[in-house]
Amino acid sequence: MGQPSTVIVGGGIAGLATAWGLARAGAGPVTVLEREASLGFWSSGRNAGILRSAIPATATRQLALRSEARYHDLPLELVRHAPGPIFDAVGMVLCEGAPGLPAPLWWEDFEALGAVEAWSPAQLQTRVPYYQPEGTRAWWMPRAGRIQVSNLMTALERACLELGVQFRLGTRVQGLMHDDVGHITGVRLEDRSEQAADRVVLAPGAFVARFAEDLGVAFPARTTRRHLFYALPNGPWSPKDPVVWDDAAGFYFLGTENGELLLSLCDGDDADPEHLLADPLLARLAERRVQESLAALGPFDWKRRLVGIRTVSEDDVPVLGAHPGHPNLYWVAALGGHGITLSLALAELACDLIEGRSLPHRLQAALAFDSPERDFQTQRDYRPL
Ligand SMILES: Cc1cc2nc3c(=O)[nH]c(=O)nc-3n(C[C@H](O)[C@H](O)[C@H](O)COP(=O)(O)OP(=O)(O)OC[C@H]3O[C@@H](n4cnc5c(N)ncnc54)[C@H](O)[C@@H]3O)c2cc1C
Repeated sequence: MGQPSTVIVGGGIAGLATAWGLARAGAGPVTVLEREASLGFWSSGRNAGILRSAIPATATRQLALRSEARYHDLPLELVRHAPGPIFDAVGMVLCEGAPGLPAPLWWEDFEALGAVEAWSPAQLQTRVPYYQPEGTRAWWMPRAGRIQVSNLMTALERACLELGVQFRLGTRVQGLMHDDVGHITGVRLEDRSEQAADRVVLAPGAFVARFAEDLGVAFPARTTRRHLFYALPNGPWSPKDPVVWDDAAGFYFLGTENGELLLSLCDGDDADPEHLLADPLLARLAERRVQESLAALGPFDWKRRLVGIRTVSEDDVPVLGAHPGHPNLYWVAALGGHGITLSLALAELACDLIEGRSLPHRLQAALAFDSPERDFQTQRDYRPL
């Protein structure tokens, strides 16, 4: 018997990372089906590209820390194929809480790794003099930074092509094919043709509902909209400055590779990916936010805005692994606001699960589609420092 064939639905970061993970492991023929005319058209082409591992949800943080290690020691195949740098280790200042409050949930892991430093208000004022934070407790994270997503996507695509992965663009999957006993045998395409496969991986980003319905279940995540704004500031700021993320304000900003300032109000209202519209109110709120907290860099020359979709599970943990009762059907989905950060860990872990290798029990259970934690609403609670 030959090696099992795999069809991956979705050519975003989840599909590409999984395809690369399988192909480099020699796990049989892999085909990626993407409904748009290009890869990374949806969330993977509309995000801030911040590498942030300081995530309250434990399983997601574990994946993020694993991925972070890979970004700092990039696989040579990706470096060789990338048209430019994949990762800029500019670091991140995370503002939250207030001095004297218990430490955030991620703090112990970061302290153990020596990956965080508490900054006094005076240090914050010296390093980021132009920002007036709402969260008055500042943490410096030198290992965080900015991922150049288009370079990463190109590197993954080229590495996949070199390993023989097939890409079929403009190919929309309509549903799953089953045999008489319910075993998944491939996918049905929009033009009514069929693509048979021994294994199917669902990595459709925000378009998960159709597949979950096919399986007679609800997908355990919401699709939420987030806006990004791009502007040129007029004050003393450099695109090479650290990412600043103010959890207390729900606000972040960073420089982009073309010298603009990218900022977000961390909005997250429910949205339908098939009818995605920008909200003009958000532009006014962004202007107000920069007047209040980045006044030293004004006036801003506003360039453009975009809106993207984040598919967020209730516990902020991705859905990764076999669908219950279907051992040859897998999800790599619900990456929330972390998909770019998590990508290099996903390439390894999705491959392990699809190839039948177990992950540490608690991690695998937390990532499962039917993890009992998924109806738990994430809350910000603190342990004493
Ligand atoms: C505004 C914003 C900012 C963000 N900032 C960050 C950040 O700073 N750091 C970070 O780590 N993450 C960030 N994210 C999150 C990150 O972008 C996502 O987690 C990630 O891109 C999701 O990747 P994906 O492959 O699951 O989905 P997608 O990129 O949406 O890919 C899914 C693909 O599947 C295809 N597809 C769907 N249905 C079908 C079908 N039936 N047939 C064939 N193809 C199909 C779609 O066309 C799409 O190309 C941000 C997201 C947004 C929206």
